[in-house]
Amino acid sequence: MLMSVRYWVIGIGCWVLVSCSNQPTPNNQYPSPVTYQSPIDFDIQLAGNFGELRPYHFHGGLDVKTENVEGKQVLAIADGYISRITVNLYGFGNAIYVNHPDGLTSVYCHLKEFDNNYESKWHLNHRDTIDMHFKPDDYPVKAGHRIAWSGNTGHSMGPHLHLELHDTETWDLLDPMEKLAPLIADTVPPVAHSLMAIPMKGKGLFRGTANKQTIGIWSHRLEQDFTAWGQVGFALWADDYAQNTYHRYGIRHMQLLVDGHEVFRSDVDRIPLSCHQEVNLWGDYEHWRQTGNWYLKAYREPGMRLPILHTDFNQGIVTFDEERTYYLTFILRDYQNNQSRYDFTVRGQRDSRIKPCRHPQLLNHNLLYGQCLWPIVNINPQNHQTR
Ligand SMILES: [Zn+2]
Repeated sequence: MLMSVRYWVIGIGCWVLVSCSNQPTPNNQYPSPVTYQSPIDFDIQLAGNFGELRPYHFHGGLDVKTENVEGKQVLAIADGYISRITVNLYGFGNAIYVNHPDGLTSVYCHLKEFDNNYESKWHLNHRDTIDMHFKPDDYPVKAGHRIAWSGNTGHSMGPHLHLELHDTETWDLLDPMEKLAPLIADTVPPVAHSLMAIPMKGKGLFRGTANKQTIGIWSHRLEQDFTAWGQVGFALWADDYAQNTYHRYGIRHMQLLVDGHEVFRSDVDRIPLSCHQEVNLWGDYEHWRQTGNWYLKAYREPGMRLPILHTDFNQGIVTFDEERTYYLTFILRDYQNNQSRYDFTVRGQRDSRIKPCRHPQLLNHNLLYGQCLWPIVNINPQNHQTR
């Protein structure tokens, strides 16, 4: 069935984007919408999705499975022109870049080789490192044209196609699902494995201690009798899944509600290159080093500028300052809108070790603040070193 929908017109989102940008072309005409299609000529299955947490970087694209073999046709996902090719023993291996008229660039990586028509013109001579740039008229392509053969070159653990989508001007990474979602079957919601409670140092307690704690999640309602006082942040270890595959994927949307009000929301739709290393702050890097599992914090650490995180005035940290029951809910959603919900309650229990909080939970019922309203704070270089 997927075969029949492969060539769907999926340029609607793109048209909306163009419309909202309100930028007429020089002759006062809006550019026509760009139609996107599959980069392969068989059903798409993913080994990885956009925005998965990795140490020091987010996964920058979709890992498209190629039936465990090399040499599958790689097709341009939209009209445009080949703007660049790179060859490297590491990283992307052999990669080809296609610029599209809607201001996006698609990048196809780990290729076995480029299409034979181009190879003969480019005289690559099996050099180890190549970086060639081309003009729009040099190598125009149409959607569905074969541009390369899939492979396993560069930093690749097995044959697959790593497909990235960039804003051509800023080079921000975008989720290719925005264009390809209608071609990818997924009716399975994300699953949360474990909750983490992180009392703020000197300002909060959870279950009577100031220690970070993990609590396994076995059902959609956690029945434990949690107590807390002061400021506590929460984090979740969760994965997304799809049918007919054993692969695990990153979480596109995560929301934390307190008494029905949203205090945190993440939507992994765009990663500026300058924010890549903040993955180690949003995810609990130390815990990942010990266990291999990433906990996603439902609050913003000082200094984080990731535009995919949105919080209330308290940056997502929950303040327990009344002796009553607080109702907390995590909602997880994938790009296909499959959703799961986890509810738990926390009883506010006064504790003399924590001084009264002068800044009670300030809930803004309608607006969650994006990164642009928060001052930029220097990040502790220990947490932010490059590798
Ligand atoms: Zn990849």
